Amino acid sequence: MNIRVGILTAPHIEFEQRANTFILKNVRIGIGFHWDRHEDQEFAGTLEIRNNADGTQTAINTIDLEDYLCSVISSEMNANSPMELLKAHAVISRSWAIRAMQKPNHEGFHVCADDHCQRYEGLLRMNERAVEAVNATRGQVLMYDNEICDCRYYKCCGGRTEIWRTCWEDIDVPYIQSVQCDYCKSPSPKVLRLVLNDYDQETKDFRDWSVTYTAEELSEIIRSKSGIDFGEILDLIPLHRGASGRIDSLKIVGTKHTEVIGKELKIRYLLSKSCLYSSWFEVKKSFQLSIPSDRAFGQRTFTFQLNGHGWGHGAGLCQIGAAVMASEGHPYEEILSYYYRGAVLDKMAK
Ligand SMILES: [Zn+2]
Ligand SMILES: [Zn+2]
Repeated sequence: MNIRVGILTAPHIEFEQRANTFILKNVRIGIGFHWDRHEDQEFAGTLEIRNNADGTQTAINTIDLEDYLCSVISSEMNANSPMELLKAHAVISRSWAIRAMQKPNHEGFHVCADDHCQRYEGLLRMNERAVEAVNATRGQVLMYDNEICDCRYYKCCGGRTEIWRTCWEDIDVPYIQSVQCDYCKSPSPKVLRLVLNDYDQETKDFRDWSVTYTAEELSEIIRSKSGIDFGEILDLIPLHRGASGRIDSLKIVGTKHTEVIGKELKIRYLLSKSCLYSSWFEVKKSFQLSIPSDRAFGQRTFTFQLNGHGWGHGAGLCQIGAAVMASEGHPYEEILSYYYRGAVLDKMAK
C-alpha cells in the first residue's frame, strides 16, 4: 500500500537525484510553530514535482506505507527512544495514516510532511530501531466499533488529556477521553534527551510555562494574526474550558473590537507570534505604572501573564507521557490502552 506525501511547496523545488534516493533542499519544518526552520532532507520512494496554478511547485513523494512509518516515528520522536514507545507510535501513526488515505487532508496527495498531519522527515533521523518497531507491529492498528481509530497525539498533555470537541468537531469520540497523566509530570532530563529529536530539545518549559505581554504587544500580535484591529486589549476572558482545562472559547475585549474566538488551535495561534504551547492557561492581568523621564505623569499599562500547561492539543496520546511509560517498562499495548480507552489492537486485513 503506497501513501502520497506532499513534502513542500515552493516557488522552485530544488532537488538532487541519487541512486536510490533523492534529496530535497530547504524543506520547511514546524511551519508556524516555535521550532519553524529549514533543512535538506533525503527520501526513498519516488518524487513527482507538481506545477501549481499559482506558479509554485509541490514535491510529492510516493512511498510504501510501512517505509513511510519508519520515518514518521523517528521524526515525531527520537529513533533511540525505548522500543515500546516506538511500537506504540508505529500503531497510532499507521492508524491515523490509513484514515487519512481514505479521506485525504490535501489536494493531490494524502498527507503533508509536517505537524499539520504527521512529521515525515525522510531518512534523516531514521535508524534500524525504527524499522524494527514498524516490523514488529506490521499491519497493526487501533480499532473501535470495527472502525480504525483516528489516533491523535501531541507532545505533552500537562497533567490531563483533552477530549475531541475542545479541539475539533462537536462530537464525542469514545476512545478520546480525558485521562489523568502523571507520567509527563517530571520526566528526567535523561529520558527527554533520549526521546526528543534535536530541535524539540530546545523547548525546555513545555509542561508548565509562562508568557508575559504588555497590552501593546498583545494588541499588535492579535492585530497581525487576525487582521482585525481590536484597539488596545483590555481583557482576555476564558468562557469555556475542555476537560483538561484547555480553553476552547475565549473572549478578547479591546477598545475598538470585542470577539469570542475558538477552538483551542485558533486561540494558541492568535495569542502568540508563532503559536502558544497550548490553550490551557490562566490569565493574570496586572497594572504597570511606567514613568517616562520626559513626562510629568506616569502611564498606566496592562500586562497579561499567561500561565500555562502542556504542549499541543492534548487529545489522545501524550508523547512525553508515553515515553516515560515505556522507559518504566510498560509494554506498548498498555500504553495504547491508557491513552485510547476502549480501543483494541487489531491487524489490518491485507
Ligand atoms: Zn497536512
Ligand atoms: Zn501527559
